[in-house]
Amino acid sequence: CRAVLPAGENAIKAQACPSGSFKPLQGHENCIHCPINSRTTSEGATSCVCRTGYYRADSDPLEMPCTTIPSSPQNVISSVNETSLMLEWTSSRDTGGREDVVFNIICKSCSTGRGLCTRCGDNVQFVPRQLGLTEPRVYISDLLAHTQYTFEIQAVNGVSDQSPYSPQFASVNITTNQAAPSAVSIMHQVSRTVDSITLSWSQPDQPNGVILDYELQYYEKELSEYNSSMVKSLTNTATIRNLKPGTIYVFQVRARTVAGFGRYSGKMYFQTMTEAEYHTSIQEKLPLIIGSAAAGLVFLVAVVVIIIFLLRRRGFERTDSEYTDKLQHYTSGHVTPGMKIYIDPFTYEDPNEAVREFAKEIDISCVKIEQVIGAGEFGEVCSGNLKLPSKREIFVAIKTLKSGYTEKQRRDFLSEASIMGQFDHPNVIHLEGVVTKSSPVMIITEFMENGSLDSFLRQNDGQFTVIQLVGMLRGIAAGMKYLSDMNYVHRDLAARNILVNSNLVCKVSDFGLSRFLEDDTSDPTYTSALGGKIPIRWTAPEAIQYRKFTSASDVWSYGIVMWEVMSYGERPYWDMTNQDVINAIEQDYRLPPPMDCPSALHQLMLDCWQKDRNSRPKFGQIVNNLDKMIRNPNSLKAMAPLSSGVNLPLLDRTVPDYSSFSTIDEWLDAIKMGQYKEKFESAGFNSFDVVSQMTMEDILRVGVTLAGHQKKILNSIQIMRAQMNQIQSVEV
Ligand code: AMP
Repeated sequence: CRAVLPAGENAIKAQACPSGSFKPLQGHENCIHCPINSRTTSEGATSCVCRTGYYRADSDPLEMPCTTIPSSPQNVISSVNETSLMLEWTSSRDTGGREDVVFNIICKSCSTGRGLCTRCGDNVQFVPRQLGLTEPRVYISDLLAHTQYTFEIQAVNGVSDQSPYSPQFASVNITTNQAAPSAVSIMHQVSRTVDSITLSWSQPDQPNGVILDYELQYYEKELSEYNSSMVKSLTNTATIRNLKPGTIYVFQVRARTVAGFGRYSGKMYFQTMTEAEYHTSIQEKLPLIIGSAAAGLVFLVAVVVIIIFLLRRRGFERTDSEYTDKLQHYTSGHVTPGMKIYIDPFTYEDPNEAVREFAKEIDISCVKIEQVIGAGEFGEVCSGNLKLPSKREIFVAIKTLKSGYTEKQRRDFLSEASIMGQFDHPNVIHLEGVVTKSSPVMIITEFMENGSLDSFLRQNDGQFTVIQLVGMLRGIAAGMKYLSDMNYVHRDLAARNILVNSNLVCKVSDFGLSRFLEDDTSDPTYTSALGGKIPIRWTAPEAIQYRKFTSASDVWSYGIVMWEVMSYGERPYWDMTNQDVINAIEQDYRLPPPMDCPSALHQLMLDCWQKDRNSRPKFGQIVNNLDKMIRNPNSLKAMAPLSSGVNLPLLDRTVPDYSSFSTIDEWLDAIKMGQYKEKFESAGFNSFDVVSQMTMEDILRVGVTLAGHQKKILNSIQIMRAQMNQIQSVEV
């Protein structure tokens, strides 16, 4: 398409621009000299190209000189304050010829001594921001205490992304100091009455030291923060009393270490019971209370009868009186009278007495050590032979206490024998006796040829039939049933605490209490909580949150062991951090079925991981269930669908698409929150449009007071909103 131009202008056009100049458009304008740092390659150029190392940003006019990347920032000054830091610097001496220089901060945390640095996580805060800083300063906070960091301050401008080289930067190394703990992230309501609320909360993600205590601040939601009250708690749980009935209170908690108080947690709202709710709950519980009172009465009568019986018997014959006395002393309410129960050796004034009572002293001359087979907490574990007089020689495992022990270490070491000596069951490791009168001190138990279950499974990955695996699981469950009948709570049931003999019989072991007593976080398996250590990924949420260790929490751990067994020793929750595991469980995620796992077994695992501990099966039921499977192997044919291999870390909480429900009631049923149907209806939350806009305040107003339920509903609403947005964007 040719423009028809007047003759004179055609003449000007005919003159092409000489080299070193250009004209962007054909026309009558004059040629322009190439701007600085650019040149032409031929005559008649419509633009000049930049010299090597110089660039033109998309928005730069052609008449503008070509520019280059800025030099590094200079004179960096850092000032560390506990776990935050102020960085200041002077701008680059050479801006590259541009005025749009900004700064980016790269944060790397470095492990001391090894020179390994990794990019900092998302939790580090930058003010005003991390990238594109226009002023030569930044405030960085939420770093870890006592940690080395390297910060790189990059200078970039409008042409940096065109340069093949990385931006120039200045770097600075710093080490953070002692710091107060980070904020508590989760708080739960454990129970409530008309005038009290019991709360528990998680440890701060970064305690930055030993937590001395927690301070809980609370006030009525309708009043101002200035009217707040304070309670202190040594543990991560507290009961707040003298509250008003049916009133919403705002709670915040913070932890204290020697470095001072941490930040307060976010505000959480909990409501006391109204009088009406209280009366309804009493009415609901009335039959239970009457039942328990009657049972208590029957129990008391039984105890009195037994005491009279035993006292009489004592008159005739001198029996193991001390033991029986203690049995009565420690018998707790729900154990059938007469049934043997476990006695915690630490309830003895002198724990040595417990050792004498429950473990047989063996003369060292009867013991022959052969070889070291493992490392225990207190010293080496060896295999060897035991030849007791008039008994045949047997193969034994010998745990030794290394020399240089303290009296406390000796006591903790031997406590394991005092516990084990009380048990007698084919699926619980049998104690032969102890050697305490010579050195080294030893605990001698039956020998388990295949060692601990976790390593045994890993070594034999994929080698067993499902029935063999179920047989192992049955053995563990039978051992656990025996222990829970004895009123013993294991607290640390993991595949590494179960031993396997040459017949593939599994036996529960590791009754050492010491790992729960010392506050030391050297082993990442055990997270130290105030007053004890907890193997987080095997532990039930109520035991983590408020130390509710029961046989029901052991059932949870057993479910994890089932998962370990069916996956041949895979680490539960893979490489997730303990905190991530806690959060995931709180949000109702559960481990998916391992490869080739029958669905009946995965279902049993899920039953063991019920949030409500009373809904979990008892060990007796688990044994029966497994027996049925063994008797009817066809029931193990149906495989649980694999959720796309190991990369999908957790089971999807398959909340179906909200559009598959026609009413809010159906949706509430599907998320197992059907009990709030009426409340939603009467508060006017009866359509998906309205419900999808609900906030936490709305959920509280509707009358959902349990923190777990609030969270579940809010989560499901978020999913609903996401699904709505997806539908909308598809429609667009
Ligand atoms: P523990 O201190 O109980 O965790 O024992 C440390 C290691 O010693 C275990 O992981 C086993 O490999 C081994 N071990 C402990 N007790 C026995 C036993 N009764 N038979 C065989 N190996 C054992």
